[in-house]
Amino acid sequence: MNVFRVRALVFRQSALSTRGIGRLQPMSSIAQEQPALSSTSPPPPPIPNPTAETQGQTPVDDVEIQLRAKQILSAAVAAQAPRYDWTKEEIAAIYHQPLMELSFQAATVHRRFQSPSQVQLCTLMNIKTGGCSEDCSYCAQSTRYQKGTNLPAKRVESVESVLAAARIARDNGSTRFCMGAAWRDMRGRKTSLRNIKEMISGVRAMGMEVCVTLGMIDEKQAKELKEAGLTAYNHNVDTSREFYPSIISTRTYDERLATLGHVRDAGINVCSGGILGLGESDADRVGLLHTVATLPSHPESFPVNALVPIKGTPLGDKKPVEFTKMLRTIAAARIIMPETIIRIAAGRKTMPEEQQALCFLAGANAIFTGEKMLTTECNGWDEDAAMFQRWGLTGMKSFQKTSSRLGAVDLSGE
Ligand code: SF4
Repeated sequence: MNVFRVRALVFRQSALSTRGIGRLQPMSSIAQEQPALSSTSPPPPPIPNPTAETQGQTPVDDVEIQLRAKQILSAAVAAQAPRYDWTKEEIAAIYHQPLMELSFQAATVHRRFQSPSQVQLCTLMNIKTGGCSEDCSYCAQSTRYQKGTNLPAKRVESVESVLAAARIARDNGSTRFCMGAAWRDMRGRKTSLRNIKEMISGVRAMGMEVCVTLGMIDEKQAKELKEAGLTAYNHNVDTSREFYPSIISTRTYDERLATLGHVRDAGINVCSGGILGLGESDADRVGLLHTVATLPSHPESFPVNALVPIKGTPLGDKKPVEFTKMLRTIAAARIIMPETIIRIAAGRKTMPEEQQALCFLAGANAIFTGEKMLTTECNGWDEDAAMFQRWGLTGMKSFQKTSSRLGAVDLSGE
């Protein structure tokens, strides 16, 4: 079917079908929301608005609506540059595509914007375990769930022990070293900040990218971390704005976004992603993608975590998220944020190698490897090296500039 027939069909459907009008946005509002597309892109289509859970099938069952969803996908795949004005409806249209098609199209984008056989190895170290005042329902480190989890609170690790761990990670092939501290924010933590800055400079001196996750930070703290040589700051938004209050009550979604703003303004790369399997819906996964894909610039890094239920936490009995939801989220993220590094984070330990390979094919290009993933198990370096060999993958170098049709993408944050 050629483009003109599609346009005619779409227009007729919008104008005449009562059912179609009831389910779609009016053409005028859609036209205002559409980005300027290149002359080779298909014309802006009306947008489906799926609301039902997928259960393996697309809820977009009308042929015409499916056609419009495909046009949205085609335009996204053909785009010459990242977009920052996605609507939730457009992201939903991409997310709800038949999974094989979605994965194939994501792989196509991945090959255009990233080096497809390269996957970055990152190692995450907990530099301050437990005793956190926040109430994140999935987390073993909150003091609120300590009776059930029995996780003791520890002091901040010494600079020497952190640098020793970073050296081991580097010698095993990791090119990014991430450090996490279990606390709400950096207020009143002058000594810790000084030590953390020393850790950052020490890791950078080893030639590695360095990332920290220290809760909420203000502008001044962000600048200090940047001056110490920080490459990236991780602060996940976790889920959609709507579902977020069901998971955390001690800090707001907007507070999280404010920290991301301070990080970005300081010239540090933003690492922000989510956790799947919290009890969220497809609409919430679309909402999560919408939040990060409409930031003033896309996060340099988007970690996708699968909840590891921990006994004693409010989400300790949750069933694992379906793998297809994980793959769908990764593939949609690759299409709407083509230059971002997508990291398979927590939960990878339970994923068979074939599932991981599907994620790499659909656009994931970083993993966490090493001895631990904060408080949960992690795949080890030897295991990952063997997997890379079997699937023809190679590790990404530090500060690698990935090739893309748009030219080199500088990941150094400098
Ligand atoms: S996720 Fe972070 S902020 Fe939330 S309770 Fe755990 S350590 Fe604290």
